[in-house]
Amino acid sequence: MSENQLRKETTEPQQTAKASTTLPDVETLSSLTNVPYVDTHTHLHYVLDRLPEKFGVCTYQDLKERYCPPNLEACINVLCDPLSFTSDEIFPNTHSDWKVMANTSFIYLAAGVHPHNSKDYNDYVENKMRKILQHPKTVALGEIGLDYHYNISPRDIQKKVFIKQIELAKELNKPLVVHTREAEQDTFDILIKYVPKDWKIHVHCFTDSPQFAKDLLDHFPNLYIGITGVVTFGSARNTQETVRYVVPFNRFLLETDAPYMIPSKLNRNKKSKDKVTICHSGMIPFVAQRISELMNKDIDEVMQAARENTRNMYERKTIRY
Ligand SMILES: [Zn+2]
Repeated sequence: MSENQLRKETTEPQQTAKASTTLPDVETLSSLTNVPYVDTHTHLHYVLDRLPEKFGVCTYQDLKERYCPPNLEACINVLCDPLSFTSDEIFPNTHSDWKVMANTSFIYLAAGVHPHNSKDYNDYVENKMRKILQHPKTVALGEIGLDYHYNISPRDIQKKVFIKQIELAKELNKPLVVHTREAEQDTFDILIKYVPKDWKIHVHCFTDSPQFAKDLLDHFPNLYIGITGVVTFGSARNTQETVRYVVPFNRFLLETDAPYMIPSKLNRNKKSKDKVTICHSGMIPFVAQRISELMNKDIDEVMQAARENTRNMYERKTIRY
């Protein structure tokens, strides 16, 4: 099975979520490491949307206290569809309201129009997004970029909107979160042309070629490669080789991209009725464990390095951890 097929399956957990869903207990998640960590890229509002009622999880605090290990310190919750930018008006005082997210102590925000949604970019959307970007808890602009796997928005529009948002990040002095998939050359060309060499960039959920990772890391000294649960997938060879041979110990970040990218270890028995079909920020230790095997390091060292790298990518004065 190709990496693309794998990724497609895991990005569409809603198809199976209804049948039988379970979440790992905190003890299991805590058993691997106690080192404090930040989930640097997640969509917790989608996690809460998809959790079946049986869990009784209604708030972000509930999710953290009942289902995440105590060493989870903070999350960067990524708002990337235009609907999220008006969520304070459409869904006031619910978990979908971005102001409710910002008022939750452990949640920080990033906002940007995802390449899939490029076709919906307009002045109205941009103005709403600007408002979120000016909130003190918003630490980056993104995820923005190019996705030529699905081509949900036409490529020329994706490119235009990517460049427009890079210009906005420069105007507002915000670090960038980049989504890139099967668009290596165009992503690289746009980044080197429009983004200053020393800009802080988080290339999230990396699944492209190791050579592409190397080119990015070589050109941009403050660029970090985000690693998700994809690294645990049996056939995720690109991501595994990138981690094993290319990414230096001081240039990676840990992320879940929840509710997607469930670490495979949680579903060893594929036929089990207790299948985990939703990812959340508590599952980071499983990502770190696989990285530790690939880098031949202790898991605690991996967690500590990721924490240090997070501090360098996302300024500590904005994220308290
Ligand atoms: Zn994402």
